[in-house]
Amino acid sequence: MVEDEMIKYRLNGPASQERQRIRLMAALCENRFPQAVVIDGTPGIGKKALAMEISKALQCTDMFERPCGQCFGCKMAADPGAADNWVFPLTAAEAQAKSAEDVKAGSRAKTLQDIKQGYIEQIVANPYRTDIFDAGAEISVNLIRAMKSTFVMKGDRTRVVIVAEADRMNDAASNAFLKTLEEVPPDTYFVLTVASRERLLPTIRSRCLAIHLSSLTDAEVKEETLRMLGDDADEDQVSRDVIGLSLGSPGKAFFYLENAKALCGLASDFIVKSLKNDYSALFEELAENDLTEVSEANGFLEVLSFLIADILRKQSGAAVRLPDTMAGMDMDAFPRVDADALEMALATVQETMERIASRRSTAMMCLQSLAIKLFEGYK
Ligand SMILES: [Zn+2]
Repeated sequence: MVEDEMIKYRLNGPASQERQRIRLMAALCENRFPQAVVIDGTPGIGKKALAMEISKALQCTDMFERPCGQCFGCKMAADPGAADNWVFPLTAAEAQAKSAEDVKAGSRAKTLQDIKQGYIEQIVANPYRTDIFDAGAEISVNLIRAMKSTFVMKGDRTRVVIVAEADRMNDAASNAFLKTLEEVPPDTYFVLTVASRERLLPTIRSRCLAIHLSSLTDAEVKEETLRMLGDDADEDQVSRDVIGLSLGSPGKAFFYLENAKALCGLASDFIVKSLKNDYSALFEELAENDLTEVSEANGFLEVLSFLIADILRKQSGAAVRLPDTMAGMDMDAFPRVDADALEMALATVQETMERIASRRSTAMMCLQSLAIKLFEGYK
């Protein structure tokens, strides 16, 4: 016990999430770390990164400072080959892959372990990314059973299983996981990451310590995004619009690096051409941008909402979120567009997003009718 008290725990991460880490570090130091923790927060803010820090700290065997980053335990926590330490959503086809033990010698078939290893490599390389798993992937009961079956081989080492995007467990998987939580094997810990805790079974929630992770500051988003870009990163790559659109999420900033410029440009054209009733040019531009998928069309409308809200902010003298795009917007040319018109436009965009999501008509038709309806009565 005296030895335990000498061990220092230090979980790394952005300064604005320090308060949550202090709670976890205190539990580690006092040797009362809960067997299950659920980390929630918006996508791309570093929930998996914190889960990996916890996994290292629990598996580390250094006598002075944990995680040390050097010992076998620390290395296992970040080793893509240690696929048993992870559960995450897979597509139906991926989840059906055989496990290594069931594949004939010499077979070239991809095993479940191979598939998982590929994903873990991506997570370890950039835990902030929000687009690693397929939109239709889920955590099936087979994946929970496969995890359970490895417990017998654990030996006496500390075992940490990260259940990433745990709110994508289907009903059967949730029930199987609940049973696991009811009888956690000794020296075994679970760290769940979820966008919303409300989507977990209440009986699972009640067995986990809840850690709510907050968004990062703009400066931290910039720092983390530059880190993701690596050594040859150029500061100009992370524009002010990218930071504004990210809303404190480095994962979102990473996504917008590629397409913020195109989406913001299209959004400002959408507003101006719609006000000028210049529909044929606008429809052509929309077609060129190929916004046929629901997620792509609604991703664009999110940016359009941002821009409309920014015009409102500018009119009321508040700071804008998309300074680069706003610099090119001349709303003085449209004197009738006042706060009421902008509020109404925001509601119309929201309605269109719902219509697109309902899939009753094609995304392109919804966007075209939005162009006509936008600022109706104020043009
Ligand atoms: Zn270590």
